[in-house]
Amino acid sequence: MSSTTTSAPERDAAGEPQREGYFGRFGGQFVPESLSGALTELTDAWHTASHDPAFLAELDDLRRNYGGRPTPLYRADRLGAEAGLEVWLKREDLAHTGSHKLNNVVGQALLTKRMGKPRLIAETGAGQHGVATATAAALFGLECTVYMGAEDCRRQRLNVVRMQLLGAEVVPVESGTRTLKDAINEAMRDWVTNVETTHYLIGSAMGPHPFPTMVRELQKVISIEMRTQFAAQAGGSPDAVIACVGGGSNAIGSFADWIDEPAVRLIGVEAAGEGIGSGRSAATLSEGREAVLHGSRSIVLVDDEGQVLPAHSISAGLDYPGVGPEHAWLASTGRGEYVGATDEDALHGFRRTCELEGIIPALEPAHAVGWLLRHGREHLGEDARVILNMSGRGDKDVDEVVRVAGWDVGVERAFRTESDS
Ligand SMILES: *Cc1c(COP(=O)(O)O)cnc(C)c1O
Repeated sequence: MSSTTTSAPERDAAGEPQREGYFGRFGGQFVPESLSGALTELTDAWHTASHDPAFLAELDDLRRNYGGRPTPLYRADRLGAEAGLEVWLKREDLAHTGSHKLNNVVGQALLTKRMGKPRLIAETGAGQHGVATATAAALFGLECTVYMGAEDCRRQRLNVVRMQLLGAEVVPVESGTRTLKDAINEAMRDWVTNVETTHYLIGSAMGPHPFPTMVRELQKVISIEMRTQFAAQAGGSPDAVIACVGGGSNAIGSFADWIDEPAVRLIGVEAAGEGIGSGRSAATLSEGREAVLHGSRSIVLVDDEGQVLPAHSISAGLDYPGVGPEHAWLASTGRGEYVGATDEDALHGFRRTCELEGIIPALEPAHAVGWLLRHGREHLGEDARVILNMSGRGDKDVDEVVRVAGWDVGVERAFRTESDS
């Protein structure tokens, strides 16, 4: 770490000393020597920009007039009736490019321009972050290369075409499990080689410092808007805020402004794939251990030898064996509650959101809906008022959902409604 301090460090909620870039013992900057200069430059640039009224005004203008913010907060009465709770949806699916990803990307792309770098690179899982990055690259006239696992390219063909239309080069990654983890490795390799000209636009609240903090601050707009909207439309504060967790950016953005308000429960829903303990899940905080992955210390799915295990989820956006360090910290202090939703729960949530609300959700937030429908009332009690972050829309997932449902009789059952039988 670059920062040193002479005075006694402050303590965080877990009683751990607070160090820059750390959340308790999680976080930090575990990178090759060749990147530490770029990370220091980035930390300084972000620090200056995030205190510069001109930068913040430009960001605010882009969010509103290009990105479509604020996104609505909507009381989903039919879904709520089925869950037995009062359910509000924060409609990030209505933001430009169809998810919360643009919040992060516009901020980092503006910063890239300020740093005078002409090129962006990014990793992408479901393709949403790649599309958002390609969008911002077009908007600011930057070159753009996106690394995407070959398996994810197959699952998310539409997003590959979208990125290409936006002028980005898409590089399919054939190594490892050919998914997000492997795409991140390739992007890191590119960054080491081209660091003078290139900003690596990490797509979630993960990676080495300053990314987890910077991405949280850029996504925090979600919870800031939630607070104002909920107070005006419902009154007071919600009992719980619920979001799906992949790397953790939409969840930390949904949680950030509530962390200091302990009456508001913060619930992160991870992808449990075929079930916790099945060996085919992405429920990092339920099943993982402390380890360093992709530049920071967090909780990671690893075997006894410390080898990173392949993650499994029906959703390419949650199919990641790590999680951002701030979530590891929130889990370790108990401030955040992390639960799992299986592939089948997600398909159930997907189907019911379509049928009850006229909203085709992305498979990622469909995990949160599925958990809420199956466990919400028991977990939160009757009459709880909850905000669920609808992190993205599901157009990208329609083909894959139909394909999977057609293949698997067990999954198909989740698709059958009462009227079919
Ligand atoms: C990428 C994505 C996610 C998962 O990423 P986080 O960083 O955990 O938010 C969730 N929902 C949608 C719609 C996404 O595109």
